[in-house]
Amino acid sequence: MVTAALRLFALLLALHASFDARGAEPAARVNPSRPGSVSAPAATGASPSGAIPTTKIGGVEYVSVADVATRLSLRLATFERGRRVTLTGPSGRAELENDSRDITVNGLRVFLGDPVLDAGRQLYVSRIDFERCLTPMLRPGFGVPQRRELKTVVLDPGHGGRDNGTSVNEKTYALDVARRARRLLEASGYRVILTRDSDVFLELGQRAEIANTNRADLFVSIHFNAVPNDSRTSGVEVFTFAPRAQHSAEWWSLKRKDDPHLELTEMPVNRFDHWSVILAHTIHRRFVTDLKAYDRGKKIAHWGVLRSLECPGVLIECGFLTSSAEAKKIATSDYRQKLAVAVANGIRDYATLVDPPRGKSAASSARGPRPVKAAN
Ligand SMILES: [Zn+2]
Repeated sequence: MVTAALRLFALLLALHASFDARGAEPAARVNPSRPGSVSAPAATGASPSGAIPTTKIGGVEYVSVADVATRLSLRLATFERGRRVTLTGPSGRAELENDSRDITVNGLRVFLGDPVLDAGRQLYVSRIDFERCLTPMLRPGFGVPQRRELKTVVLDPGHGGRDNGTSVNEKTYALDVARRARRLLEASGYRVILTRDSDVFLELGQRAEIANTNRADLFVSIHFNAVPNDSRTSGVEVFTFAPRAQHSAEWWSLKRKDDPHLELTEMPVNRFDHWSVILAHTIHRRFVTDLKAYDRGKKIAHWGVLRSLECPGVLIECGFLTSSAEAKKIATSDYRQKLAVAVANGIRDYATLVDPPRGKSAASSARGPRPVKAAN
């Protein structure tokens, strides 16, 4: 089968300058007007399942939601004279709205790389969003080679040493959550490696290198968030590395063309986008449903710590240390244990999709994973 993951990607191993979310503004919900004109449909073989008609809108390749529904065997329903649609299948349901990047998948907030657009009496999503976001979330494992069984997990406590992160608490709590998650995952039989197990400084590229040299099967970078002079903003965010030519959630707007982090070529980690998105989705679901954390969304960003990974990887923001309410919770070992359990269970959920139990479909097994018990 010809698949997206098998296409020849340019592997640029150079480490680029990276940036961090420290002090980043919360992502705005951007509702753009429609860019550019619509050109005639063309066919491409670049979708996860072979040729699908594409239409160029504002220089970006788009596919119709009707074709997405057909290709992924989903049921398409239309509301509000076509302004909103739902795509429903055995693995879940997505709700999309015209002129928005902000969609809902399985009840979770998800940011696309390009806005949903109405181009001729039906909605379209960008081909990259179809392949790298909707497909892994709605048809996990579809059209890509199967991953090997999950054995080695690398957990990356953000910051360390002279790099405190948003505050000294960030590097301290990140390490604490990583250690707790390690205990839970080791008890489940996984080999777990921490990029740092003490208060030491590591370059971003070194962290990915530790994962690569240990042949990690997945990588989770653990962080806490902050907004200066704002004690109200709270919630969790889960990031994957942005696909080629897509802007990070914070940087995107119709008029803004000056994103210094935009990548025009595939980075090494982009080869694993399908699986990174599944991992993001399973951890995201645990954060929101088990922890009842406020959902700030699954986003894309050009995180330097993920760029050169040779395995699926995500960066998680476990809450705001500047939020008076959330910081109080995070300061307790009880809540940090709950965070660790959510991370470990999200990884377990991912594992059931990578290596489904015999006789069960990936979709059904993802709903009933064997959970890690919460224990201090
Ligand atoms: Zn951080």
